[in-house]
Amino acid sequence: MFNQDKFLQQLKELISIDCGTYTPSGVTKIANILEGYFKEVGFTTKQIKISDKVGPLLIATNKENATTFDAVIIGHMDTVYAEGLVAKHPMRVEGNNIFGLGSIDMKSGILTALHTIYALDKNVLDNLSLCFICNPDEEISSIYSQDYMSDYIKKARSALIMESAGNPDSIVTKRKGISRFHVKFKGKPAHASTPNLGLSAVIEMANFILKLEEFNNEKMQTTTNVGIAKGGEAGNVVPDIAELDFEIRYFDMDSQKVMMEKINDFISKPTLKGIEIELEQLSFKPPMNNDESSKWLEDLVLESATKAGNKLNIISSGGGSDGNFTSYLGTPTIDGLGPVGGYWHNAEKEFLDLSSVEPKINTFKNILISLKK
Ligand SMILES: [Zn+2]
Repeated sequence: MFNQDKFLQQLKELISIDCGTYTPSGVTKIANILEGYFKEVGFTTKQIKISDKVGPLLIATNKENATTFDAVIIGHMDTVYAEGLVAKHPMRVEGNNIFGLGSIDMKSGILTALHTIYALDKNVLDNLSLCFICNPDEEISSIYSQDYMSDYIKKARSALIMESAGNPDSIVTKRKGISRFHVKFKGKPAHASTPNLGLSAVIEMANFILKLEEFNNEKMQTTTNVGIAKGGEAGNVVPDIAELDFEIRYFDMDSQKVMMEKINDFISKPTLKGIEIELEQLSFKPPMNNDESSKWLEDLVLESATKAGNKLNIISSGGGSDGNFTSYLGTPTIDGLGPVGGYWHNAEKEFLDLSSVEPKINTFKNILISLKK
């Protein structure tokens, strides 16, 4: 039986802690709490220090010496929110909706998996080898935890990602890959009255931004966004420095290649002669794209849902997750197994639909039962 009171009390504890990716002390608190929960169900746990910049990686398994896992179950402990925001947005309940930072992204996803473990018969659990991976840096593309997670992921027959699909009837089998960049433009300063004597880094940045806009392309299903653009220091000076941060998203590596060629082409041949452009890649996430080798897992998940009285559709998502990484490593992956909610990354509005939790647990329970065959 699903213990909703316990779920809510645990959720409240977890979303009452500032645990943005760059608040490692808060993420460590989350790791300590979750570690306690996993120990309670008899799992062996360890926290791995992976960087000073982010919190620890938490690993919990019911088969300490397993050489293969039936599944790695993945959820991230970090949020996108800055330190101090929890005080402004404490947990709030309105009917079935639970508002709070990380309520849907993704403390409730981790708890859904945990409550499934509570619901499993001991003999079923004993026959499975499971490994929970709770990472501290998914919101920055898991740049620090990736290498540490890959050993566990490669040992697994399946990867089950507890992110919310955002829709009551869905699982995610396709996600866009994401590459993020920083670009620096170096021109030549001049007095504003003689712009011909200078080289405006801001104008070249504008040219570059317009070029990037071509990637918002429905046919290729690619998108781009310039999130930060800055340059210049005074109104009467031709600006010699400009900088921007942008990202590109793609469903396949061919599209990524096309975009990279266009970007590199622009950089090697700037519109304003003499401008220097430096491109720095900040992160890379491959697309999650299930192929034939994942079909069995897709079928197993859909059947498990049907048996639990839930009908799931298969959807694709423009947002990335750790599923991109597990699928890239060749481990059959299903994402979106967490509960329903909305407004990711929105401090005012992020919420979990509590009524979706129990059906998700019932489906997840059937998935784990079927995984052992
Ligand atoms: Zn997430």
